[in-house]
Amino acid sequence: PTKYIATPSRTGEILKKFHLDAKKSLGQNFLTEPQILQHMIDVAGVDQDTNAIEIGPGIGALTEFLAINAKEVLAFEIDQRLLPVLADTLAQYDNVTVKHQDILEADLNAEIAKMGPADKTVVVANLPYYITTPIIFNLLEASVQFDKFILMMQKEVAERLTAAPGSKAYGSLSVAIQYYCDAEIAFTVPRTVFNPQPNVDSAILALTKLDTPRIQVIDEAFFFRLVRASFKQRRKTLWNNLRAAFGKEEDTVEKMTAALDEAGLDPKQRAETLTIEDFGKLADALFQKEI
Ligand code: SAM
Repeated sequence: PTKYIATPSRTGEILKKFHLDAKKSLGQNFLTEPQILQHMIDVAGVDQDTNAIEIGPGIGALTEFLAINAKEVLAFEIDQRLLPVLADTLAQYDNVTVKHQDILEADLNAEIAKMGPADKTVVVANLPYYITTPIIFNLLEASVQFDKFILMMQKEVAERLTAAPGSKAYGSLSVAIQYYCDAEIAFTVPRTVFNPQPNVDSAILALTKLDTPRIQVIDEAFFFRLVRASFKQRRKTLWNNLRAAFGKEEDTVEKMTAALDEAGLDPKQRAETLTIEDFGKLADALFQKEI
């Protein structure tokens, strides 16, 4: 193209032509820096044998880069107003399908089955920040074999998702992500490259889903319940959080004491010092005692 959609001037022209004002409630901040988009494409390893899924194409900034580099592109956009805009801005690309749908309601497996064959399927998106975590967990729980997720989000959230035990940002989300994936922050993005400018900086998170979860637990739902309960009150000890979650009866207290001992944990520890393996051992011990 003579001028990418993702340039400040072209974005300004498009917004003006369609009398569009960005909807804050839908997390609309349009990226206006082509180099960042190229960097996302490179990190995602998008090539002519790759199908790409995009969430929230907006006015098409990232979609255009995907169209140029990928085999096929399928983009989900919730805002009806953007459909005629995308039809116009992406008119020259014949490998893009835009679907007017809330990504949280999309049947990803069925939609992706409709795409042509490809060596790889990746998700590349500049996410609407108000639903970052539900989107990620929907993607991770879908049965589609995605090869990679390259997701732009609020920097602080990316830090939480990739945090290691002992750090301030470490919490139940970090454990949940580790359970499913290898995760790393690929690079950070300043707030100044968006129209309109958001109040926060952003980061690109690169996720690769593991073939099988990082640890094996007896009951997955119980494991996640335990992790959330353990972090419920961060300043409290593991013991106090467990008591709040499971109760204070003598029988329960005995089971908790024994389970902590079996897992090699000190009740005075705080959840933030536990590794995912520690949580796994504790969950299994508690589960087996039918707490
Ligand atoms: N991809 C564009 C870019 O990089 O400039 C726009 C990104 S903007 C941060 C987020 C986009 O997600 C907006 O276009 C917004 O309308 C869309 N969106 C918000 N909620 C959505 C949902 N539940 N399902 C699909 N798209 C959604």
